[in-house]
Amino acid sequence: TKWVYSFSAGKAEGSAAMRDLLGGKGANLAEMAGLGLPVPPGFTITTEVCAHFYATGRSFPADLEPQVDAAMAEIGRVAGHAFNDPKWPLLVSVRSGARASMPGMMDTVLNLGLNDETVEALANYSNDARFAWDCYRRFIEMYSSVVLGVEHHIFEDALEEFKESKGLTLDTQMSADDWRAAVKQFKSIIEANAGVAFPQDPREQLWGAIKAVFASWMNHRAIVYRHLHNIPESWGTAVNIQAMVFGNMDANSATGVAFTRNPSTGVKELYGEYLLNAQGEDVVAGLRTPQPLTEIASRASPGEKISLEAVMPKVFAEFAKVADSLERHYRDMQDMEFTVERGKLWMLQTRSGKRTARAALKLAVDMSNEGLITREEALLRVEPTSLDQLLHPTIDPAARRDILVTGLPASPGAAFGEIVFNPEEAETLSASGRKVILVRTETSPEDIHGMHAAEGILTARGGMTSHAAVVARGMGKPCVTGAGALRIDYDEQCFTVAGKRFAKGDKITIDGSAGHVIAGEVKMQRPELTGEFAVLMGWADQVRRLKVRANAETPSDARAARRFGAEGIGLARTEHMFFEGERIVAVREMILADDAAGRKAALAKLLPIQREDFKHLFEIMSGLPVTIRLLDPPLHEFLPHTDTELATVARAMGADPVKLRRRALQLSEFNPMLGFRGVRLAVVFPEIVDMQARAIFEAAIEASLSTGEPAVIEIMAPLVFAGAELDLVKARVEAMAALVEEETGIRPRYHIGTMIELPRAVLRAGEIAASADFFSFGTNDLTQTTLGISRDDSGSFLNEYVEKGLLPHDPFVSIDQEGVGELVSLGCERARKVKPGIALGVCGEHGGDPASVAFFDRIGIDYVSCSPFRVPIARLAAAQAAL
Ligand code: PEP
Ligand code: MG
Repeated sequence: TKWVYSFSAGKAEGSAAMRDLLGGKGANLAEMAGLGLPVPPGFTITTEVCAHFYATGRSFPADLEPQVDAAMAEIGRVAGHAFNDPKWPLLVSVRSGARASMPGMMDTVLNLGLNDETVEALANYSNDARFAWDCYRRFIEMYSSVVLGVEHHIFEDALEEFKESKGLTLDTQMSADDWRAAVKQFKSIIEANAGVAFPQDPREQLWGAIKAVFASWMNHRAIVYRHLHNIPESWGTAVNIQAMVFGNMDANSATGVAFTRNPSTGVKELYGEYLLNAQGEDVVAGLRTPQPLTEIASRASPGEKISLEAVMPKVFAEFAKVADSLERHYRDMQDMEFTVERGKLWMLQTRSGKRTARAALKLAVDMSNEGLITREEALLRVEPTSLDQLLHPTIDPAARRDILVTGLPASPGAAFGEIVFNPEEAETLSASGRKVILVRTETSPEDIHGMHAAEGILTARGGMTSHAAVVARGMGKPCVTGAGALRIDYDEQCFTVAGKRFAKGDKITIDGSAGHVIAGEVKMQRPELTGEFAVLMGWADQVRRLKVRANAETPSDARAARRFGAEGIGLARTEHMFFEGERIVAVREMILADDAAGRKAALAKLLPIQREDFKHLFEIMSGLPVTIRLLDPPLHEFLPHTDTELATVARAMGADPVKLRRRALQLSEFNPMLGFRGVRLAVVFPEIVDMQARAIFEAAIEASLSTGEPAVIEIMAPLVFAGAELDLVKARVEAMAALVEEETGIRPRYHIGTMIELPRAVLRAGEIAASADFFSFGTNDLTQTTLGISRDDSGSFLNEYVEKGLLPHDPFVSIDQEGVGELVSLGCERARKVKPGIALGVCGEHGGDPASVAFFDRIGIDYVSCSPFRVPIARLAAAQAAL
């Protein structure tokens, strides 16, 4: 088997297409090398070796070693030197690289190949003993923590002590001899902690590093990251071994990261940061503040800056050309790492850049307009759920704000919450429903879970490509980095800034678009739904087949639904209207009524209220369908429960408290979800249907008069399991239509249909369809009744099911395709057999979940209906499903 793939500028055994085998990094290194770009020579050990490693109790295939030897020899041939070369020893990096990017989650070893002899050779070659010994101690630190399991901080503590004893404060003040002494000390630390001597043989170092990097696939943080991003464990990682180039060799060396376009805004500009005389890790670690690449960016940002363009104009020009060709080649925004060694540019990595939702939109639309990608590709470039970020608030520009400090606008959007200083606490507080802002000096991969739990992230140190910035953008969370004036005291759990002290629990707002940190809570505003957003949505609407409606019953939700592009209301839950304000009194009177006459009197009070509500809906949705569902929930939900509640209500409505209690008892159920609800209310109290139908028809007539557009009425019965139930409702509605016609001279036109929420309704879909103009699958209840899992009580065990792999995901969030989905599909088939033209919709929560939307599109559903904020997500998901 071929386990190893070599590459060097102009020559590569692999390519970008071999991502599964070579990992993202390896595949792209091969691709860049194949394009003739300046890539240091190296090779990739495949993900199949990783699979072998874990399948065989952490051992390697027998024929791996000769392949690695051959590939090392090839590096030596191309680079012109080898391990232990007495004049110029070859050093290599050993890095992980999985199929999906997992930044910082696995281990890396740099400067491998250094030992007591080669360090002297490197000192001679570079003419810089200090540089060589600094490299050696970095290598020892990294190797020992990654391979030998000696904790990194032990070295850092020792180094601090060493510096103190010499009266030094900064690493840069360490001389060659100081580093030499530190190395000696490090070696004894290793012997004391790991019980072995630091290995001097580069080949032994290499195999130790390869093994450790494969082993880091099972790091705790890597496991957490995979979990959060749904990355299968079986993918494994590849390992990349590559000749080292040094951005820290001299003042003519540098290292940096860059994006071909701005990853926050999507603007077309070479965007990035670099550090002179530094190693790549220095940029990401956020310890030194990096400088901008371009002159334009340098002038735009405050303070003394020197751009790469100004310092190394020729290298910059070459890099800009490489960046441009990479973007054209990959037809996507690239995130690149580069190093300049003694004036020569080397490309170390390229990959599709992570971007904010805003940038993703702009990139997709711009690149399509530039002819780089097609409109279809543009639509596929935007993750539907990421639109959520754009639909959420930003700071109201008119709001008064007390800006404490301005850092870097690392990830856009605004967030407000309580200050917390550690990720565990962020997680606990957020789990209990509190909003928190995680404040750290800088973040590291260990903080991910806390960042996830927080509303936003604020750091005192680090640039636009620091860990905090990159991760927050990926998560779509507001983030401000490099707020240098912030003095954080973890021990005291507080920070001071601008002369003010803020403790844990104090409230702040951060604006990740402006880099502002603001005291207290600031007024936010609704997002703009214009520009690229509107353009892309327009393209989505042109290609999708599936229609998208909204679940809404309040005027403000209905207006939001229209703004977000809903093509009607697919579900107005009338019980929600019953709960509002004083109406509940009339509802209770209706429930308490002794006979039909009493019930009618109470319903007469509800009629005008309902009519008014419906009228608003018809007016707002003018010309678009409005599906009104007849009353659904169990009646006892409307009644008070505790004694005091009972007494208060009885007094307020002048009802007999004894009778009220008796009725409440009568109506209480062991299993309300399977109880006296849905169409069953209509069967027992058809007067309710009469009232609701009258309110709907009269409202529609009024609304049509006021808007000049005929109202499109759809009346829907909930929770039916047989055609006869629907027939009963239908007869009442038809009688009411006739009555309204008699009274007004206007014949109401309407459709009548039903929700399909019970397995029996699916099985009897043919019979029910005979009476229905439309079906709307209530996948919330259908999931509940199919799995026999209560939608209200699933929290205590469902997570375990997902964690143990018994279910791929929460079936209330994303449709259980093989179970509930199968039923939906069967229901459609049976309904269409009887009535080919029947309209089929879905109005459960799944209507706003992209994976479910794709499934519904596939089985021929006509429309989905979801909460207003998810309408754009569903529109884009429906377009992607159609492509
Ligand atoms: C459903 O059951 O899927 C549905 C939309 O109805 P509700 O959520 O109101 O029960
Ligand atoms: Mg339901």
